[in-house]
Amino acid sequence: MKAPAFDYIKPRHLDAVFQLQADYGDEARLLAGGQTLLATLNMRLSEPALLIDITGITALKGISLQGSFLRIGALATHSEIEASALVAQHAPLLSLAAPHIAHRAIRNLGTWGGSIAYADPAAEWPACLMALDGIVVVQSAKGERRIAAQDFFLDLYSTALAEGELITACELPIAAPDQLFAFDELARRHGDYAIVGLALAATRAQGGLVGVKLAFLGLGKTPLRATAAETWLGQRPLTADLLEPLLEVLRSELDPLADLTNSAATKRHLALVLARRGLTAMLNPGTP
Ligand SMILES: Cc1cc2nc3c(=O)[nH]c(=O)nc-3n(C[C@H](O)[C@H](O)[C@H](O)COP(=O)(O)OP(=O)(O)OC[C@H]3O[C@@H](n4cnc5c(N)ncnc54)[C@H](O)[C@@H]3O)c2cc1C
Repeated sequence: MKAPAFDYIKPRHLDAVFQLQADYGDEARLLAGGQTLLATLNMRLSEPALLIDITGITALKGISLQGSFLRIGALATHSEIEASALVAQHAPLLSLAAPHIAHRAIRNLGTWGGSIAYADPAAEWPACLMALDGIVVVQSAKGERRIAAQDFFLDLYSTALAEGELITACELPIAAPDQLFAFDELARRHGDYAIVGLALAATRAQGGLVGVKLAFLGLGKTPLRATAAETWLGQRPLTADLLEPLLEVLRSELDPLADLTNSAATKRHLALVLARRGLTAMLNPGTP
């Protein structure tokens, strides 16, 4: 199918975007990499009157260090993030996750901001943002606000972005030298959206892992932090003898939504496989 007719404009400044959003309201859509939006237009899932192409706006581009944060501009493409030395050094979780996103051609065009805004519960970046306790920076004609990842993803494809707001960047706390990260997912074929995925972060200390954070994708309507399992561990370091009890807490906590091909029980099982694998590898660094 072909997309319905629409007008197209490529402003150079954010003020012009905000003006167009005010003029067109719900009839306008922001266009970034187009890797999701154009498919939905072609399927006629929405029929906006105007596409506002934001890819010419310099303020939304780039990856930079800003104090204790790594700033990922909304227009940073998946491939830029994958290849970035700054990301590899300061937010290595993203370097681990990037190759799992679709195929190279899509990663070359698709953007960080588009993925966060679209909020697909099976997407990699939202889960990474949750695992890292990142912050979403949004802007509108009224000014800027910062939203914690935990408060950003509200429901299926639904976020805390208000009308007239766009994502300008995200801020990720820079990784400490003793922090460990892991990302893994299970998909039917490489490049497919994952059935289940897991972003992990922890700090090596006190003879084990402290501050373990588990963020799952593909289990619910949003990316999910396993808060019951994290709270159960509390201040205790995770050591090998606590792994199975932790996984039991996780088993009770996870309440996955079935999809067209996988039951909730299958998804719970796969999530536990990923958690056991990831945490075992973190507890035993250097073993294959
Ligand atoms: C075949 C295929 C396979 C894919 N597989 C995966 C996968 O495995 N994992 C994965 O994560 N993704 C996957 N994707 C999606 C891809 O990652 C998209 O790039 C991403 O979801 C959207 O980014 P985009 O820049 O293309 O956004 P667009 O398609 O341009 O926009 C998506 C939505 O976000 C809004 N938007 C865009 N930028 C902003 C902003 N700065 N502020 C506010 N709203 C904004 C748009 O208005 C639109 O509603 C796949 C896509 C395809 C076509």
